[in-house]
Amino acid sequence: MSDTATRDDARTDVTAEHLDVVIVGAGISGIGSAYHLTTQRPGTSFVVLDALESFGGTWLTHTYPGIRSDSDLYTFGYRFKPWTGPPIATAEQILTYMGEVIDDNDLARHIRYQHRIDTASWSSETATWTLDGVRTDTGEAVRFVTPFLWMCQGYYRHSEGYTPQWPGMEEFRGRIVHPQTWPDDLDLTDREVIVIGSGATAATLVPAIAGDCRHVTLLQRSPTYFVTGRNENDTAEMLRSLEIPEEWIHEIVRRKILHDQAEVVRLAAEQPDMVKDLLLAEVRARLGDDYDVETHFSPRYRPWQQRIAFIPDGDLFEGIRTGQASVVTDQIDTITEAGIRLASGDELTADVIITATGFDLCVMGDIAFSVDGEPVEWPDTVTYHGMMFTGVPNLVWIMGYFRASWTLRADLIGDFVCRVLAHLDELGARQVTPVLLPEERDLERLPWMDPDNFNPGYLMRSMHLLPKRLDRPEWQHTQDYWVEKETLPAIDLDDGRLEYR
Ligand SMILES: Cc1cc2nc3c(=O)[nH]c(=O)nc-3n(C[C@H](O)[C@H](O)[C@H](O)COP(=O)(O)OP(=O)(O)OC[C@H]3O[C@@H](n4cnc5c(N)ncnc54)[C@H](O)[C@@H]3O)c2cc1C
Repeated sequence: MSDTATRDDARTDVTAEHLDVVIVGAGISGIGSAYHLTTQRPGTSFVVLDALESFGGTWLTHTYPGIRSDSDLYTFGYRFKPWTGPPIATAEQILTYMGEVIDDNDLARHIRYQHRIDTASWSSETATWTLDGVRTDTGEAVRFVTPFLWMCQGYYRHSEGYTPQWPGMEEFRGRIVHPQTWPDDLDLTDREVIVIGSGATAATLVPAIAGDCRHVTLLQRSPTYFVTGRNENDTAEMLRSLEIPEEWIHEIVRRKILHDQAEVVRLAAEQPDMVKDLLLAEVRARLGDDYDVETHFSPRYRPWQQRIAFIPDGDLFEGIRTGQASVVTDQIDTITEAGIRLASGDELTADVIITATGFDLCVMGDIAFSVDGEPVEWPDTVTYHGMMFTGVPNLVWIMGYFRASWTLRADLIGDFVCRVLAHLDELGARQVTPVLLPEERDLERLPWMDPDNFNPGYLMRSMHLLPKRLDRPEWQHTQDYWVEKETLPAIDLDDGRLEYR
């Protein structure tokens, strides 16, 4: 591959820019990928394209009060950049950390903001992807041509969140707001507020706004598991007191957290009732014996079938205990002029309704893909290790973990992509495409994720849009960091499942 970017006029109306690699997305995955390219394959020409006006992805889009991670930053942070703050971080702290990675590695010159990609077409004749898009600031058409496309576009639509349609919504006198598009002018002072939802976003928002509102009600259809604790890491604090270098602390604390998490995940699978009892005992201790924990905090699913949100310092429960916040577990019947009528017949009044009802999953950044003129239908493809797809050459997608921090997988895939690029060079090949082995072709094609393994709403709503998996580790996203940290680096690039040309 060439190591310099060149330009030419592919069409009269748009100038094509040629690069060795194009990364779509400047979130935590895209910035990490840029780091891996510059450090593991110096001299590679590449750009990082993002539709937004700056880096950060998720952490830039979400601006609702209290926005913070629910994973610890020792593992949500990159393996190569020590995290020195509190384990659970605000969006601002995460953006600062990412900004330092960009500055320390001189990545800014590679990033183009306000560049939205709309189509991606592969040509086997030239062995290149042609990406067409638009500059969202000027409306100017843009085109990039590259042999290798690294998709770091996340998994949900950034422009708006998911709001179910309830009868009567248009009757409501107040304001209905989705946390993903939080209005700058929203003043909650002395307002009666209902937050609909039970996930990490609702649990973050409620304590963050409880002090301002007259009262905030968390209205949930069904409960979620929460785990509480201090927003500090004892091991890190102890090592810091011994003046151990931050690089060491980062690595040791990562290993400790991952070790402990593996134990919890194992226990949750083997003894779900015991883990459930432990989690609920913690909630009881926070809310007192009189509180109806069974109704409001005892989920129907097993621990870890959905993400368990961490509540630093139990702030959500503190708001409930002091009466600033309350929880209602019920179904919405109708939105009324004054609030919400519930299936039980009860009515809740509100000035503002916040719909913390999740994301809209979007496959591959809403980009229309084609291979040699044929549109790519993602559900017709099978995923190779949850990162490449049958019949789609020279393309890798970073989809992180749900049970462990996303970024752990972004780092593993970074190594994989650099290995694949080196292997293409060694072979003198231009094209690498996942193909099923003859004996795998007739195996049953299963949905992307086993719903018994992991079943959050946004995934269940949109599973039909995603690629398929086979009942073999090579052909699925296992969601298991502890297995993949061994298997992904050891992938045999010549076992016949990757076809080179
Ligand atoms: C509120 C919230 C909290 C979360 N907390 C955690 C957590 O604590 N731990 C955890 O592991 N995970 C968490 N997640 C999941 C989280 O999304 C990922 O961990 C991670 O931030 C995803 O990073 P990413 O870079 O892959 O994607 P994103 O952050 O989604 O970034 C993708 C970028 O790609 C750009 N893009 C998309 N399509 C196009 C296109 N067509 N053209 C140009 N640009 C495009 C977008 O503009 C965006 O900037 C959270 C998610 C949310 C919404």
